[in-house]
Amino acid sequence: MTARFTARVTAAFGRHLIVRDTQGREFEARPFGRRLSVVCGDDVECETDAHHGEAHVMQVLPRRTGLYRSNLRADEEPVVANISLLLVTLAPLPAPDLFIVDRYLCAAACVGMRAALVLNKSDLPLPDGLTPELAVLEGLGYPLTTCSTQDGTGLETLRRLCHDETAAFVGQSGVGKSSLAGALVPGVDIRTGGLMREADGRHTTTASRLYDIPGGGALIDSPGVRDFAPAIERLEPTSLGFVEVAARAPGCRFDDCRHLREPGCAVQAAVANGEISARRYESYRRLRRLREQLQQAAGPKSRKKP
Ligand code: GDP
Ligand code: ZN
Repeated sequence: MTARFTARVTAAFGRHLIVRDTQGREFEARPFGRRLSVVCGDDVECETDAHHGEAHVMQVLPRRTGLYRSNLRADEEPVVANISLLLVTLAPLPAPDLFIVDRYLCAAACVGMRAALVLNKSDLPLPDGLTPELAVLEGLGYPLTTCSTQDGTGLETLRRLCHDETAAFVGQSGVGKSSLAGALVPGVDIRTGGLMREADGRHTTTASRLYDIPGGGALIDSPGVRDFAPAIERLEPTSLGFVEVAARAPGCRFDDCRHLREPGCAVQAAVANGEISARRYESYRRLRRLREQLQQAAGPKSRKKP
């Protein structure tokens, strides 16, 4: 006899999965069929039969959101699914690269995922000029939480922010993502919690995992997410996910305005009168150049995409 049930993927190690049913029971599972790509955070439909301990994932339910990266063949592959809140993390040390921050914010905006800023290591002095840049981002609707895993500042605010969300920390290496995850999910060492041993016991490889946050919500930790470089080609073509560009683009003379040197461009006008931050606009231009270089390198296959 076979039983069919819906579940959520709480761990993914290649094609080796752990799924959790609606009653909270966990099963080992495998995708049924080669073509099915299943990632941590996915809602799936499973089947078990009396002869096998393992469940089969028969179908992935539509993803509410997804983060995608480009693989070596420049095809997109999902990294994690159904994140509701992307926590873009930075710190006084390592020196913040706001271009990286913008890229994450854009990736989130383009898939309809909310994003928030986390400034960790508030026990350290802030680099010159960072405060006004963060104020610009707050003004665009990205809430900022200042915290320190060292002295506990802001951790309660961060807990409230993540309540009932499916969240993930992203950002430069060393900003404190593991430390913050450890503060939200006590008792889990994210660095070793993500390790899974293969059946033959030879390999331990890092896996993606979903951890419950006490009191409600979940945190997804995945090496693919932490270091994830958003697939640029996937960005919305008019604004690339820059919310202030998206807001002004309808006022441009040309529908396909790239907001670089085109006449009658509402975005360039807003930069000129100071409504759009010069740094954000420079970041936009950089991302646009990068996108065009990638499209040229990829050739006609990718140029067909919007
Ligand atoms: P990840 O690479 O983003 O996961 O960063 P880690 O969590 O591994 O932290 C990198 C380093 O920053 C470690 O040495 C931590 O001890 C340190 N660190 C984490 N949080 C804080 C903090 O709030 N203040 C200070 N001063 N150091 C921190
Ligand atoms: Zn324009």
